[in-house]
Amino acid sequence: MFQILKKSVQTGLVTIGYPHRPAQIPEHFRGAPSFELVGWQDARPAAEACPTGAISIEESEARRRVTIDYGLCIFCGQCAEADASGAVKMTPDFELAVRDRGDLVTTVEYPLTSDGRQGPAAVVQTGSPALQRTLQPLEQKLQRRIRDILGRSLAIREVDAGSCNGCEMEIGALNNPVYDLERLGIHFVASPRHADMLLVTGPVTRNMELALQKTYRATPAPKIVVAVGACGISGGIFGSQNYATVGAVDAVVPVDVFIPGCPPRPQALLHGILLALGRMEQRLHASDAGRAE
Ligand code: SF4
Repeated sequence: MFQILKKSVQTGLVTIGYPHRPAQIPEHFRGAPSFELVGWQDARPAAEACPTGAISIEESEARRRVTIDYGLCIFCGQCAEADASGAVKMTPDFELAVRDRGDLVTTVEYPLTSDGRQGPAAVVQTGSPALQRTLQPLEQKLQRRIRDILGRSLAIREVDAGSCNGCEMEIGALNNPVYDLERLGIHFVASPRHADMLLVTGPVTRNMELALQKTYRATPAPKIVVAVGACGISGGIFGSQNYATVGAVDAVVPVDVFIPGCPPRPQALLHGILLALGRMEQRLHASDAGRAE
């Protein structure tokens, strides 16, 4: 007993201060890629290297349309390695959760030069006009209502709808002494009937589709659904539909917040959960894809 007490005193406080203090990110942590969109001269090597189709290209006549979808991105770094120009870089960014799936998508149109390279970007579009808008009065009212009802004490039911368990490892870490989710008044529960939020991982397998629908119906209103990871957002490397999966969580139940990553680190999960409660702000804007480092 004395040894345990001595060890506790020696160890001291290990719990992180995030979100009240900035996250301490390990030096080698790999977050979202960043793209120098305006001056990008050739997106083809990065698009060819991307294993999930997060970077896709359409060409018509003298134009090239490049689409970047963070909802498909698994943060593998292949694009940055393939792009010799330095226009693609990996960053430690992890606060990527959004309320609108379209906010994860950026499309850029370039004129093509005679050698097949790109001229300066002609048009940059975000997937959703939501990026530029401020919350409408009804949405603001809804956000306040969610915060009033669920903001101080939240019960989460985690649903593994077919994941590889990478996301579960990170979700499990939220309960350890380092991340200590309960200090924020948030805890996991065993039944959807006791839950305010469903935290759903994985491309939804056909075997789990009905179970997810039943879990959603069993959760009392008002309820929030958060899709976790590239698979939960888009089907990830498994794609949107195949013989075994139906793809994204929002193909089965309505989703309120999307948390990119493969898997998202615990602070990224915290950011997404608190964003859903209106206790943190959305940080990612699709135009950020083109930010200069
Ligand atoms: S980091 Fe994302 S965008 Fe880049 S190659 Fe990997 S999946 Fe594709």
